[in-house]
Amino acid sequence: MSIGLLKTFYGSHRWTKCRNAYFVAVYGLCEKCGAPGEIVHHKEPICLNDLKHNIDKVFGWDNLELVCRQCHELAHSKRIDGLTFDDNGDIVFVETAAQMDMKRDDE
Ligand SMILES: [Zn+2]
Ligand SMILES: [Zn+2]
Repeated sequence: MSIGLLKTFYGSHRWTKCRNAYFVAVYGLCEKCGAPGEIVHHKEPICLNDLKHNIDKVFGWDNLELVCRQCHELAHSKRIDGLTFDDNGDIVFVETAAQMDMKRDDE
């Protein structure tokens, strides 16, 4: 359920405006390697609670970073398991491959 709400957030008008403004402010280039930027990433990953109680972390430019797809995957693969990325944006929570294998075994 929480996954759906986060997806709704990433599709929201307010987030789209915020990320577009940030994109322009950093000249549309990846802040890590200088390649064309694709994803406005949250340096501190956000959760549903932040959408309600910590809106500065969600929309504050201090916590944003424009990155290319490669740098984005690198940024996440370093620290979080069970996450993947959707085509337009940021993190999506998924079951790990191991958990899915276990389920198949149960059936
Ligand atoms: Zn990059
Ligand atoms: Zn990210």
